[in-house]
Amino acid sequence: MTTALPPAQPTASHFIDGAPYEDASGAPLPVIYPATGAQIARLHLATPAAVDAALSAAAAAQPAWAALTGTERGRILRRTAEILRRDNRALSELETLDTGKPLSETLVADAASAADALEYFGGLAGTLTGEQMEVGGGDFVYTRREALGVVVGIGAWNYPIQIAAWKAAPALACGNAMVFKPSELTPLTALKLAEAFREAGLPDGVFNVVQGAGEVGAALVSDPRVAKVSLTGSVPTGRRVYAAAAAHMKHATMELGGKSPIVIFDDADLENAVSAAINGNFYSTGQICSNGTRLFVQSGIHDAFVARLAERMDGAVIGDPMEEATTIGPMVSDRQRQIVRGYVEKGVAEGATLVKGGEALDGPGFFLRPALFTGVTDDMTIAREEIFGPVASVLKFETEAEALSRANATEFGLAAGVFTNDLRRAHRMAAGFQAGTCYINAYNLTPVEAPFGGVKASGLGRENSKAAIEHYSQVKSVYVGMADTEAPF
Ligand code: NDP
Repeated sequence: MTTALPPAQPTASHFIDGAPYEDASGAPLPVIYPATGAQIARLHLATPAAVDAALSAAAAAQPAWAALTGTERGRILRRTAEILRRDNRALSELETLDTGKPLSETLVADAASAADALEYFGGLAGTLTGEQMEVGGGDFVYTRREALGVVVGIGAWNYPIQIAAWKAAPALACGNAMVFKPSELTPLTALKLAEAFREAGLPDGVFNVVQGAGEVGAALVSDPRVAKVSLTGSVPTGRRVYAAAAAHMKHATMELGGKSPIVIFDDADLENAVSAAINGNFYSTGQICSNGTRLFVQSGIHDAFVARLAERMDGAVIGDPMEEATTIGPMVSDRQRQIVRGYVEKGVAEGATLVKGGEALDGPGFFLRPALFTGVTDDMTIAREEIFGPVASVLKFETEAEALSRANATEFGLAAGVFTNDLRRAHRMAAGFQAGTCYINAYNLTPVEAPFGGVKASGLGRENSKAAIEHYSQVKSVYVGMADTEAPF
């Protein structure tokens, strides 16, 4: 790695009540640059006092924030979007330092999509209204769309600023305040989002960031001041957090893991299908929840597909993520690389054919060469479990019915894709997929205008789009009696 690194140390570990907040009595949290293994910043985990301060600030700030008009709230969100766009390069570099994802990705996919969410929900904020129903005898009912109160957001490490903004934008648009806990592995850019909010004029306490591992998340979720929790994480964590939320009857959005299928029929456009397989398995070094890691390929196109995918994988540029020509960065941590290595070994041991890749690169940093398996069967571990790394599995199939039933034979249900030029078959497959987010002749695109989320074990609730409003607000109905009240006695 020859590129000089920009500074990563933040002013303070947390951001509470409109200002950086430090509590050095919290356990140290070293921040590691995944491309070198070097420590680039040192923070502290939140103490119970810091967690309490964040929740108190949010609870105190929320009513006045909700009392602003939606247009006023929206204006601040849209200003924040402009600040993120203005600072996109610096934010992208910081995201690259935090995650190891190549700058070629972070420049277009991270702060940029955070800005999209803030702009979209900033626009929507002023349009939120209730309804009115005539109920007979001149009486009527109207509904008020109200904020929930304090929302806790908990993020994964693969898209830190995007996840923070995908949760904060709809939450704040609806008049909630938020305490956000980034993943312990990637604590830096959520603090920058907090600073951007402050610069845009967000009242103190409406958006707070506290650092911590699972215990801090658990403390936030069980606090009585919290009305809702929105988690992006793995299925096991989702089960724990959802159970904790249920114990306190809190609202919950769960954006969890997946083992998504992409079904490629004989009549598909080969290059497009291969491109989708590359994007859907190797972007962000495979650390994407909705990745299409089960590539079901029909027998007639199977060999050509595998040959072309293997050939194009040779074009991957693995290395310094700060170089804009790099297309594959390191994994986020050595631990994650070891997990993925373990799956590669299991794939080989269970009889799949490793066409290429899967080996850890020598030298510093947590690099792993993208892996392609063929001859994968539904019962193999690599076809059943979420790997969360650059490992693609090709599974051969013969008929449409077979492909659909095998695609759905999983506990997960986040995303699914189909490549075919048969219009009716494409829509039949989309209707048949047990997945929250489906694609026809495309894959892994997540525009803010469209709902995103999973079914089955992949979670509940939706992010992005108007659908997210339902998950960050509640409806109160108000019955208005226009006639005298009758009673039986
Ligand atoms: P984890 O489930 O390990 O962690 C997610 C977050 O939850 C982290 O901030 C973690 O803290 C926190 N956490 C852990 N335990 C608890 C608890 N008991 N109570 C409250 N919070 C807790 O996921 P990863 O960070 O490893 O991210 C990868 C996973 O995220 C994959 O399964 C992936 O599919 C999923 N994901 C889903 C997305 C979606 O939209 N559906 C998008 C992106 C990722 P810490 O890690 O700091 O200890």
